[in-house]
Amino acid sequence: MAVYDVTLTHTEKVAEGTLALFFGRPDGFEYKAGQCVRLVLQNPPETDDEGNGRILSLASGPAEAELMVATRLRDTAFKRVLGGLQPGTVLTLKGPYGDFTLPADTTVPLVFITGGIGITPVRSMLLQALTEQREVTLLYANRRPQDAAFLGELQRAVLGHTTVTLVPVMTACDSWQGEKGHIDVALLRRYVPGVQSPLYYLDGPPALVSAMRLMLAEAGVPADRIRTEEFAGY
Ligand SMILES: Cc1cc2nc3c(=O)[nH]c(=O)nc-3n(C[C@H](O)[C@H](O)[C@H](O)COP(=O)(O)OP(=O)(O)OC[C@H]3O[C@@H](n4cnc5c(N)ncnc54)[C@H](O)[C@@H]3O)c2cc1C
Repeated sequence: MAVYDVTLTHTEKVAEGTLALFFGRPDGFEYKAGQCVRLVLQNPPETDDEGNGRILSLASGPAEAELMVATRLRDTAFKRVLGGLQPGTVLTLKGPYGDFTLPADTTVPLVFITGGIGITPVRSMLLQALTEQREVTLLYANRRPQDAAFLGELQRAVLGHTTVTLVPVMTACDSWQGEKGHIDVALLRRYVPGVQSPLYYLDGPPALVSAMRLMLAEAGVPADRIRTEEFAGY
């Protein structure tokens, strides 16, 4: 297993209670869009039963200069320490891991369905997909716009790309002008007319992934067209 020291360059609040951390890319570190790493704190001032590390998806795209992860800052020892890290801090990175990655065939239409912090590997894959002119639909659910990490940035990135449709969906914001409420079969059919042909990527908190899997079954999507990644721990 590959192990690297990585140095924090800066952090950025990317949504309410949500922090992105940027690291210099170590020599020789290669990864595919959508993969994750294990990020481990070195000699943290506090720890807990889960230990000093967590699995986090790389939200950065392989073509970007820096590595980036993003997380909801909850009240656990790991997150408390992570939230207070200063630029220059060195962490241990193990990986990359995982096969929640884009298919080799760039002509297959893709539908990403995610919510909340599940956007991290999707940001990476969407940026990669843009460079390959893939046909992509992203249904991105959040309670409110201020909870939606990377939304503005992704909306700007897809502008002018006619093969990409980004649909932000808010579940708890009456004033939202776009799609509201939970993602259901009717919403899916509005944006994905031939629901059975694309390859679907579902990821995020386990409850969201299972709800979306049921929704796709109801829509008649064959199970072998669905790829999933659950963020155990949420
Ligand atoms: C493949 C993969 C990719 C992942 N990618 C990401 C990612 O990109 N970003 C990301 O943030 N996470 C990601 N995760 C999840 C991540 O590994 C952690 O599990 C998650 O961030 C929770 O860490 P924690 O320190 O907040 O809680 P932990 O200490 O890990 O939580 C332990 C348990 O306590 C519960 N718990 C802790 N705090 C709370 C709370 N405030 N409210 C309710 N329950 C609580 C949790 O439900 C969990 O059962 C990924 C996981 C996997 C498996």
